[in-house]
Amino acid sequence: MEPLISLRGIRREYAAGDQRIAVLKDVDLDIGAGEMLAIVGQSGSGKSTLMNILGFLDRPNAGTYRFSGREIGALAPDDLAELRREHFGFIFQRYQLLGDLDAVGNVEVPAVYKGMARADRRDRARALLTRLGLGERLDHRPGELSGGQQQRVSVARALMNGGEVILADEPTGALDSASGAELMRLLQELHAEGHTIVIVTHDPGIAAMCERVVEMKDGRIISDSRGGVAGVPRTAPQGRRALAPGLDRLREAFVMALKAMAAHRMRSFLTMLGIIIGIASVVSVVALGSGSQQQVLASISNIGSNTIDIRNGSGFGNRDASRVRSLTAEDAAALAVQPYAAGVSPTVSSSATIRYGATEVSASVTGVGEEYFTARAFTTTAGSTFDADAVARHAQEAVIDTDGAESIFDKADPVGQVVMMGRVPVRIVGVVEASGTSFGPRSSLNLFIPYTTAMSRLSGQDYVNSISVRVSDDFEMDTAEALITQLLTTRHGKEDFFLTNTDTIREAITSTTQTLTLLIAGIAVISLFVGGVGVMNIMLVSVTERTKEIGVRIAVGARRADIVTQFLIEAVLVCLLGGILGIALALGLGRVVTLAMPDTSLIYSTTSIVVAVLSSSVIGVTFGFLPARAASRLDPVEALTRE
Ligand code: ADP
Ligand code: MG
Repeated sequence: MEPLISLRGIRREYAAGDQRIAVLKDVDLDIGAGEMLAIVGQSGSGKSTLMNILGFLDRPNAGTYRFSGREIGALAPDDLAELRREHFGFIFQRYQLLGDLDAVGNVEVPAVYKGMARADRRDRARALLTRLGLGERLDHRPGELSGGQQQRVSVARALMNGGEVILADEPTGALDSASGAELMRLLQELHAEGHTIVIVTHDPGIAAMCERVVEMKDGRIISDSRGGVAGVPRTAPQGRRALAPGLDRLREAFVMALKAMAAHRMRSFLTMLGIIIGIASVVSVVALGSGSQQQVLASISNIGSNTIDIRNGSGFGNRDASRVRSLTAEDAAALAVQPYAAGVSPTVSSSATIRYGATEVSASVTGVGEEYFTARAFTTTAGSTFDADAVARHAQEAVIDTDGAESIFDKADPVGQVVMMGRVPVRIVGVVEASGTSFGPRSSLNLFIPYTTAMSRLSGQDYVNSISVRVSDDFEMDTAEALITQLLTTRHGKEDFFLTNTDTIREAITSTTQTLTLLIAGIAVISLFVGGVGVMNIMLVSVTERTKEIGVRIAVGARRADIVTQFLIEAVLVCLLGGILGIALALGLGRVVTLAMPDTSLIYSTTSIVVAVLSSSVIGVTFGFLPARAASRLDPVEALTRE
C-alpha cells in the first residue's frame, strides 16, 4: 500500500547574497498513515523547513511530494489550503493562537473555513476543549491562559477538522517539563486513536516516546529508526455543513473585523477622520447649495411669471450688449398694440444725485412706463404710481422705493415733496416696495420716473435698455415669445435682442448654483480621496501588524478569498462608520449654523446622504483592496515566523 506521505528528492534552497544555500538536500521520506514519528537533529539542520514542506506551507525547489497518492507540486494555493484544512492539524512552539478570540473561537477557526454549521462547530470545539481538560476555560482568551493551557487549545484546534495528520514543531519547546509531559501523553493518546503524528524536537526524551525517529543533519536524513507498530488509520469526523458556508464565513469575517476595530479604537477613529471630514463637507456643501438655490428661486417666484423682458444684445454676459442700442420707445409702442401684450413698459437705466434740503444721495434712476409696476409686482405703500398721461407728457414725477424714502425723508411723508434729480426737479408721487429680490443693481435708493422724462431730461439717450411685456392670459408664453421675436426681427432687420422670462432666469440661477455646488463638492471629493488613501495606509500597517494572525489562518486552511474578505470588510466598516459619523457631523453643523444664522437655509437631500454612504463603502473597497490582497498573498512560513 502506498504510504500516506511520500517525499522523493526534496530540495529546498534559500538565496544568501548572490549564492544559494541548500537547506534540504535530496530528502526521501515515507510516512505511513497512523505512524508517530519524531524528527530530531541540531538546530539549523532543516527540521522546520521539512515540516513546513510536509504541511504544504512551503514548496520545495526540487523533488516530488505525493500525499495519499496525489501529486502536490502542481496544486494551486487554494487547493493546498483545502488539503491542509481537511487533513492537517498544526501545533506550533509558540501556540499561535489569535489573541482577540476566546478558546472556543480559536478552536473553531479551521471549521469556519471548512464550512461546518455554526452550532455543530461550537459544540465540537467545546467537546474537544473539555476533553483536553479546559472545560472551565472555554471563554478565556489566550492572554488569560497558561502556556500549557494555550498549547492544549492549539491541540484542540488541530483536531477540529479531524487532524488526520498532526504536525508539531517543537510543541514542548516553550512549556515547563510537567506541561510538556502532559502534552506528549495527549499526543500518544491521539496516536493510539489513529492520528498520524509528526513531531519536530531536539529533546531525546520526547523522541524516545515516538515509535520512529528520523535524524537530520545539514539538510539530510542521516538515520531512520523504526520501532513499534503503526497505529490504525482514522477517518475525519463529519459535522453538518453550514447551509450557506460562504455566508457563514462572511459573518465570521465581519465579527473578526469588529473585534479588530474594537481592539484599536483610537486608531480606527483617526483612520476614519479623513472620511468623516470628507463626507461631512460633501453633505453640507450640497445642502447649503440647494438651500440657497431654493431661497433665490422662491424670491423669483414672487415676480409675475407672465412677464417677458426684451434686452439689447444676444444674452446675459454678452460683452457687446452695452454697445447694442437697438431697442427703442417705438418698439415698445409697436409691441403695446399687439393682441398678446396686456401691458408694455420700456426701461431706461440711469443714475443721478438726488438732493433734498441738505441731504445728497446717489440713486439709481429707472425710466419706466406706467405698466412697469404691475408687471414687476410692486406694491404701492403711499401715494400712487404715475399714469400713461404722465408718461406721454414727460412729467417730472417720480416714484421712490421704501428704503430710499426713508433715507431721504426719514419719517416724513415723501408724497408731494420735490427733490432735485441732478439739475431736474421732480415731484414724488408715490412710494413702492419691491416684492422678493429684484435683479440688477441694488442700490440703497431707487427712483422711478417716466421713461420719456428719463430719455429727454436725464440721459438724453434715444434707445431704451429693455422692454417688459406682460403677456395677456389668453396667450401661451411660447407663442408670445415667438411673435415678439418675429415682430422685432422684422423691425430691426436682425435679431439683436434677447428675451428672458422668469423661467429663463430660474434656469440660469439653477445652473449657476449647480456649477458652484459641483465645484465645491469636487473639492470635497478630493478630500474624500485623501481620506481613502489614509485608510489604505492604516490597513497596510494593520496587515503588517497582524502578519502572524494571517499566517495562522492560512495554516489552518483559509483560502486567499477568506483573507481578502476579512480585510476588505474591515476597510469597508471603517469607511462606512466614518461616513455615518460624517453625515451626523454635517447634520449637527447644520443645526448650529441655522441657530447662529437663521437666514441660511440648508436642504439635506436623501440622495446626497445615500450617495455619501455608498461612496464611503466604495472608498473602503477601493482603498482596502490593495492591503487585503497583500495580506492574502503573504507567504505562510514567513508570516508565521515573523516576530
Ligand atoms: P531547524 O528547524 O532544524 O532548526 P530550519 O529548518 O529552521 O532548522 O532552518 C534550516 C536552515 O535554513 C538554517 O540554517 C536557517 O538559517 C535556514 N533558513 C530557514 N529559513 C530561511 C529563510 N527564510 N531564508 C534563509 N535561510 C533560511
Ligand atoms: Mg526549527
